Amino acid sequence: MTPVTELKGVGEEVSSRLVKLGIESIEDVLLHFPLRYQDRTRVRTIGDLYPGCEALVTGRVHAARVAYGRRRMLTIAISDATGSMRLRFFHFSIAQYKSFTAGQEVCFYGECRQVKGILEMIHPEYRFTTGQPLPLESYYTPVYPTTEGLHQKSLLKITEQALQWLAHDENRLDELLPPDVDDCVGDFSLQEAICLIHRPPAETDMQALTEGRHPARHRLVFEELLANVLSLKRLRSEEHRRKAAALQCRGELFEKLLGQLSFQPTAAQNRVIDEVRRDIGQPRPMMRLVQGDVGSGKTLVAAAALLQAIECGYQAALMAPTEILAEQHNGNFRALLEPLGVTMCLISGRQKAREREALLRYVRQGVTQLVIGTHALFQEAVEFNRLALIVVDEKHRFGVHQRLLLKQKGEAGDCDPHQLIMTATPIPRSLAMVMYADLDHSVIDEMPPGRKPVRTVALSEKRRSEVIEHVGEACRDGAQVYWICTLIEESESLQCRAAEDSFAHLGERLPDVKLGLVHGQLSSAEKESVMRKFKSGEISVLVATTVVEVGVDVPNASLMVIENAERMGLAQLHQLRGRVGRGAQQSTCVLVYSPPLSEKAARRIEVLRQSNDGFEIARDDMRMRGPGEIMGTRQTGQMCFRVANLGQDTELLQKVTQLAGGFLRDNPELSAKLIDRWLGRLARYAEV
Ligand code: ADP
Ligand code: MG
Repeated sequence: MTPVTELKGVGEEVSSRLVKLGIESIEDVLLHFPLRYQDRTRVRTIGDLYPGCEALVTGRVHAARVAYGRRRMLTIAISDATGSMRLRFFHFSIAQYKSFTAGQEVCFYGECRQVKGILEMIHPEYRFTTGQPLPLESYYTPVYPTTEGLHQKSLLKITEQALQWLAHDENRLDELLPPDVDDCVGDFSLQEAICLIHRPPAETDMQALTEGRHPARHRLVFEELLANVLSLKRLRSEEHRRKAAALQCRGELFEKLLGQLSFQPTAAQNRVIDEVRRDIGQPRPMMRLVQGDVGSGKTLVAAAALLQAIECGYQAALMAPTEILAEQHNGNFRALLEPLGVTMCLISGRQKAREREALLRYVRQGVTQLVIGTHALFQEAVEFNRLALIVVDEKHRFGVHQRLLLKQKGEAGDCDPHQLIMTATPIPRSLAMVMYADLDHSVIDEMPPGRKPVRTVALSEKRRSEVIEHVGEACRDGAQVYWICTLIEESESLQCRAAEDSFAHLGERLPDVKLGLVHGQLSSAEKESVMRKFKSGEISVLVATTVVEVGVDVPNASLMVIENAERMGLAQLHQLRGRVGRGAQQSTCVLVYSPPLSEKAARRIEVLRQSNDGFEIARDDMRMRGPGEIMGTRQTGQMCFRVANLGQDTELLQKVTQLAGGFLRDNPELSAKLIDRWLGRLARYAEV
């Protein structure tokens, strides 16, 4: 690896910004790919433009005008032989205004929009051309993912230099794929593919490139997927060489638990419980993912595993992604396990230091058998006496490599804890293969009996009044209702305000109905008190933000209203909807939307109306949005492939998975180099 600081203009400051993009070496620069491209290779006429397109255009100035409204604004009217449009500037100088004189020829680049039937560009790049032919670019202009304080222009210069560095000696980026493997991904060499992606020549088939069908892209996707799968397989084989406590016991505690329950486990629960118990009975650490839709009964599976560890005389831990979820698990598991004599505690960020110290001491001394808390807390504070099992409620927030960091917590002597990872996100198979290739995999593919699929209807915001009346009637008939206020991109505090508004409005309209309100800005005591009242039936309507997405269980709730449903993703809507339909009665979910619905939103709502099956919904979601968004990984940075898109590249993924096992065995050194090239930082991080 060659440090990126060897490039001109990359000093300490720039390199510290580059690190944020995962770039430490020149090789990393070469694998930092454009998000999209701009076309400055040709000039378009105004008649060719359409809203949303970006283009380079030349035209003649008709008139320039400054308007002094709420905001000062400069408007330039432009035309060519095919049509007319306008340019608008909010930041400009008088000299700039005066430079636009009628009849002058100007060349500009920007994104088109249409306002009241007129095409316009806001703040385009421009220059006056005074008749000479315009020097056009011979390459499409790449637009790179960037970070604060690092300009596109700097990235252009940096990548330009890196490409020159590569051109200087092609061995600087070794071709790592053996010829037989290389052959199955087409004609492009690694170097050719990299050059084309960074600087596509004007004659490139751009449609193929942006739609992901270009062979140069395939060459890179293949290598990236291979590196990822190899990395997981390698981790996996290292894992197999580790030791763990073999948790073998008669299962008396779990028997007792079953005796207390009012139901029998489903066949799917029994099967998964068997798989888990068989695994943790082995002297090797289990790494198993349990997937089950909301309401499929994952809690019981987790309980079976936890009790097995406890009965064998070990400690167990349950980790949740958020404080609220940890509290909720604490409530659920306390109700299930305390009657069996299990000692447990919740470690929470809200506890006073003294109280927490005492709890942690019991954990350290081994008095506490089950510890519940968030990941963050475990990572910083908790020290165990003899931890043998970690149950992770994942909510798809943790990447594979982060997950590995955790296990060190539990290492007692030379033993690793077993890990059971639970997720309610149904993950399409192709995605699971990469996301979880280091895990064994169980699916609870059956719902407890007696569940009636939730009926889903979509109603326009204009019919809000009717919806409210319907809520009132349902409550008078003894039903309970969730009223969910969603705002996707806005801040938490705005969400809470929206919920408060709806709460007030519903209160006015339904004076005889008891309402409760929960949102993220209430204290946990306040939240708990409201939730308890909803659970006991004292409150009929729970107005809530999406905090209820996680784990509340009120079987009597049979109606859910979701506001602004058009703004939510499929997966999240499905999770929310899973809060109803838990009892014997027919449940309904009303999706309230503000018209007009975009085509995509309409399709999402239609999918939900048609299906209650999480896996089916996840597949549609992936088709519509791409896997990064499903997994919520755009935000958290995990699973961020540089070029691959698992929604699109399923065929290549299949090829890669077929080949990876043998490849790792036959080419351990090449494998290590590939992994280092594509995942270097992550893989190194995992080894810390
Ligand atoms: P998940 O965590 O998978 O969303 P839970 O474990 O919270 O689901 O279970 C949802 C509800 O179903 C709970 O009220 C639980 O008691 C109940 N339940 C679980 N398993 C069964 C079963 N086999 N039969 C009937 N009810 C069940
Ligand atoms: Mg659950």
